[in-house]
Amino acid sequence: MRQPVVMGNWKLNGSKSMVTDLINGLNAELEGVTGVDVAIAPPALYIDLAERLIKEGGNKLILGAQNTDINNSGAFTGDMSPEMLKDFGATHIIIGHSERREYHNESDEFIAKKFAFLKENGLKPVFCIGESEAQNEAGETEAVCARQIDAVINACGIDALNGAIIAYEPIWAIGTGKAATADDAQRIHASIRAHIAAKSAAVAEQVIIQYGGSVKPENAESYFAKPDIDGALVGGASLDAKSFAAIAKAAAAAKS
Ligand code: PEP
Repeated sequence: MRQPVVMGNWKLNGSKSMVTDLINGLNAELEGVTGVDVAIAPPALYIDLAERLIKEGGNKLILGAQNTDINNSGAFTGDMSPEMLKDFGATHIIIGHSERREYHNESDEFIAKKFAFLKENGLKPVFCIGESEAQNEAGETEAVCARQIDAVINACGIDALNGAIIAYEPIWAIGTGKAATADDAQRIHASIRAHIAAKSAAVAEQVIIQYGGSVKPENAESYFAKPDIDGALVGGASLDAKSFAAIAKAAAAAKS
C-alpha cells in the first residue's frame, strides 16, 4: 500500500509573516490527520524559518525545496546544494518542474543529473514530468512522459526510482484552472506505472505518482479515488492553509 504524498509548491511567493501564518495554520489544520505525508516547498530564503515553525508545530509537515544544484559546494554563484538543504531538514526536493524547464532551459539530461545527485545525498526527488498543450493535442502525452522518465532511468538505473516521487503535471493544467479529468489523469498515471513496470514491477509498485495541475479542494477527491494517483503536487491552493489541508485530508480519507 502506497502512503499518499501531498506537497505544496509555493513557487516565488512568501514573506516572513506569510510563511509564519501559513505554517501555523497548517499545524492547526493537520492536528490528528494521519495516513498522508504532507510536504511544503517554500522559497529557499524561508526554509530556515519553515524548519523552526514545523518543529514548533510538532513536525506534522515535511520540509521540501523547489530546486537543487548538482554540486555540494564551490564556485557556483547563486546555487544551493543538497548538503545545505539537509542542514535545514529539507528532504523532498522538486526537480524538473515545467517552469524550470521553460524559464531556465533545464534539459531532461540536466534534470537526470539533479535526480542522481539528490539520491547520492540521501534526498527524495519529486520529479516533475508532463506534456504541453500541443503535445497533448497531438496525442503525444505518453511518449513525452516516457522520454522524460527514460532520461533518469538511463542515467541512474531503474532502482533509482525506489523511494522517489514522480509528479505528473500536464503543463496546460498548471495554474490555469483547467485541470485534467480524473479519468485522463488515471490513464496517464497507469501508463507511467506500466512503463516503469516493464523494467521492474517491484519499483513500479512502490513509486509514488502524484498528479499536479489545478488541484483544489473541490476536485481533489476525484483524483485520489483513482488507483494510480498517489497524491498531488499543489501550487496555488497550497498557499491557503484550509484549502491545502482539505486536499491532504481528502488524500488520507481516499487511501485509508
Ligand atoms: C505546480 O506548480 O506544480 C502546480 C501544480 O500549480 P497549480 O496547482 O497552481 O496548478
